[in-house]
Amino acid sequence: MSLLLLPPQWPAALMRSAPPTPVPQPTLLALNRPLALQLRLDAVALATPAGAAVLAGNAPALGTEPVALAYAGHQFGSFVPQLGDGRAILLGEALGTDQRRYDVQLKGAGRTPFSRSGDGRAALGPVLREYVVSEAMAALGVPTTRSLAAVLTGAPVFRETVLPGAVLTRVAASHLRIGTFQYFAARQDRQTLAELTEFALDRHFPAIDRTGGAALALLGGVMAGQARLIAQWLGFGFVHGVMNTDNMSIGGETLDYGPCAFMDSFDPARTFSSIDHGGRYAYANQPQIAQWNLVRLAECLLPLVNADADRATEVVLAKLAEFTGLFETAYADVFRRKLGLFESRNGNGELARALLAILAAERVDFTSFFRGLATCMAGHEPLDHRFADSGLWQGWWQQWHARRNLEQRPAAEHAALMRTANPAFIARNHRVEEMIAAAMQGDLGPFERLNRVLSRPFDDQPDAADLAEPPGAAQWQYRTFCGT
Ligand code: AMP
Ligand code: MG
Repeated sequence: MSLLLLPPQWPAALMRSAPPTPVPQPTLLALNRPLALQLRLDAVALATPAGAAVLAGNAPALGTEPVALAYAGHQFGSFVPQLGDGRAILLGEALGTDQRRYDVQLKGAGRTPFSRSGDGRAALGPVLREYVVSEAMAALGVPTTRSLAAVLTGAPVFRETVLPGAVLTRVAASHLRIGTFQYFAARQDRQTLAELTEFALDRHFPAIDRTGGAALALLGGVMAGQARLIAQWLGFGFVHGVMNTDNMSIGGETLDYGPCAFMDSFDPARTFSSIDHGGRYAYANQPQIAQWNLVRLAECLLPLVNADADRATEVVLAKLAEFTGLFETAYADVFRRKLGLFESRNGNGELARALLAILAAERVDFTSFFRGLATCMAGHEPLDHRFADSGLWQGWWQQWHARRNLEQRPAAEHAALMRTANPAFIARNHRVEEMIAAAMQGDLGPFERLNRVLSRPFDDQPDAADLAEPPGAAQWQYRTFCGT
């Protein structure tokens, strides 16, 4: 079995040699065959015991040397000058069928030069959780890192309890983060920053206009990607949970599935992470946090923009000021489609926000409400029962009805658009937890079923109606944990 990869092309200062630490007994739990195909990897070979050995870090990939990447980051607002891949090892790159390069990384494959006091390992539950949720995001059409495989290691990991160890093979357009730039900015390594900027542009924004210079072009590309990404998160009720600058990807993908979760009942102040006491990373704060993170990236790029610090600041501030408009456009577009509207008009954003205020006041289940909206063309009755006080909702429905009428299309067209924007299925927390509990008992049935159903989130799947249901009252107080 040979997993043939290309060597990473990043500046040398970014990479440290990091051979995986072998594990006692690699057992393949999941292999994402469609993704392997897209990456032109040999899925048949990966599914053999020799393939599992590579995916566990027991046997090398060919053509490349394993490395850990350096990065810094603001964690909950405080700057940490060195974080880095403490439990992730970049094996190399795959050239996809789309001719783009993808990082292939083992998460949980042992200690690296950046592990500090950590063990470099991952537990089964979080590995399966990331597998399911990241693949669910991809199926929803949200840019995300992907999950190629999960293997059991046969060795325990020690957290609050003893847990089975596992390794996730994570695939990303790249693992460059805002924190990657911060690492070199903190060291005043202008040379590496300049190289990194060129590499990042080539990798993620090959077609972008560079007339204002490479650094400004990169900032613009990352801003546009983040604006679209966060708008999509909000459209699916997704809370990332730990939007530290080291978890925000330069390529605009959802990165780091630690404490993330999809909301059930709608609450803009919702957080899931057990350590997010101030609600910094709450659902509705995500656009502002993205902007805050982009300001941190911009600070790193200042010296590349102009040798004159005042001039650089002026130019960069003007660029950053575009974020609000980029986000508003993306947000209005996401919710326009959710409301079944074809035309971008002034007021689309307000119409969406008015509805969200009503949903928030009554803690209505976000996903099933929007899915149900497609059946409400003729009148508001089918959803009236979701509101204790349905007056506000009925008033909103009249506004929506009037707005739809402006487009003069048959109701079926609006409904069809809505069914492509409002999923029937999201990775609901209580189902993810049930799946993990079953896997801990050796039953992968729920994991496989969840993956199968979530791979077609916009299709009605009557035999999976249980997976579309909101949780019961006992399951509401869901919390997620960092350091998974
Ligand atoms: P995260 O909270 O997952 O974004 O990780 C923050 C930092 O902690 C990163 O530098 C990780 O590589 C590191 N880290 C997290 N878990 C471990 C672990 N089990 N062993 C070593 N480093 C870890
Ligand atoms: Mg992280």
